[in-house]
Amino acid sequence: MNFIPLIRPKIIKADIKAAADVLATGMLVQGKNVEIFEKRIAEFVGVKHAIAVSNGTATMHLALLALGIGKGDEVIVPAFSYIATANVVELVGATPIFVDVVLPDCNINADLIEAAITARTKAIIPVHEFGLACDIEKIIQLAQKHHLYVIEDAACALGATYNGKQVGSFGIVGSFSLHPRKTITAGEGGIITTNDDQLAQKFRVLRNHGQTIINGKMDFIEAGFNYRMTDFQAAFVNSQFNRFQKNVRQKEIIAKKYFKALKKHKKFLLPKYAKNKKHSWQTFHLILDNTIDRDAAIAKLKENGIGTNYGAQCIPNMTFYQNKYNYNCAELFPNSLRAYQQGIAVPVYDGLKNDEVNYIIEKYNELASD
Ligand SMILES: *Cc1c(COP(=O)(O)O)cnc(C)c1O
Repeated sequence: MNFIPLIRPKIIKADIKAAADVLATGMLVQGKNVEIFEKRIAEFVGVKHAIAVSNGTATMHLALLALGIGKGDEVIVPAFSYIATANVVELVGATPIFVDVVLPDCNINADLIEAAITARTKAIIPVHEFGLACDIEKIIQLAQKHHLYVIEDAACALGATYNGKQVGSFGIVGSFSLHPRKTITAGEGGIITTNDDQLAQKFRVLRNHGQTIINGKMDFIEAGFNYRMTDFQAAFVNSQFNRFQKNVRQKEIIAKKYFKALKKHKKFLLPKYAKNKKHSWQTFHLILDNTIDRDAAIAKLKENGIGTNYGAQCIPNMTFYQNKYNYNCAELFPNSLRAYQQGIAVPVYDGLKNDEVNYIIEKYNELASD
């Protein structure tokens, strides 16, 4: 059996041709393909505006800037996520306030949020971790009560729904990543979603050096960034988007196989299905009990030809955050620490063959019986 990577984005000839056709025109920077892609995503998510940018982190950086969040402000984030969720808060000079997650979902515990709100709190960045919606309606209600913005970090969750509604359409801003580890990929890329016309305009200006047209003349009204997406990337990812729903369905089939085969093991805490949430299956994430050495398990699976890794970080436990805030993570964020120390991501992607799935199950069965 060949090595099975943790993820292999499904790229077909049509995707490559779509990118190549744009490359051949020589018109490479943000152009009509970006516009076409943005319109399709806005329609799919069910929002007025989608703005494509150079990566997922840039989406949240722009969101915080456009909402005027900065020095002296606090932003509530889950203690377990990819590091970028907290880094963007640091980047604008604000302070991330960490809240523990619930297991097995690895999403922010909505019941702990209110206690973390202070007079300085400006926003909440809930994450739809691994493609499973968090308790977004509860969080929106809390935010309304306390006059806070909600920026949904839906980096992993394009296509995930909560009560039938697409994630990224609940908060004032939604944020998606197009990194190869996510559902569709531009190589690097991100999408911002919003229903707010003024914010959308700000995002478009900020991603393009602060540029605008005043009285028919180019002018610059902000010290902006170059956070643009290239036009060939947009054509490439737009072509993948044609197969997007099928891609999620394929992953769902594989996830169900894992679930059926592995649920008997007491040593594994499996992801949960919720009737009102459609999972995008960016990751099939297990939490191993303490009798299993997770890092040794990762090494052994790799030796056996299965790509694997841990799912995400307990952010306040990472060196930068430890040095700056010195939180006792075991006491304050026990679930986040557990997910970080004992979590493991199982390969799940469209194109994973039946015999590969069976082989992976066999090796995880061995892991549980060692
Ligand atoms: C991947 C990811 C990001 C960052 O996206 P990039 O496109 O890599 O910048 C942010 N938040 C979460 C939860 C992610 O999984």
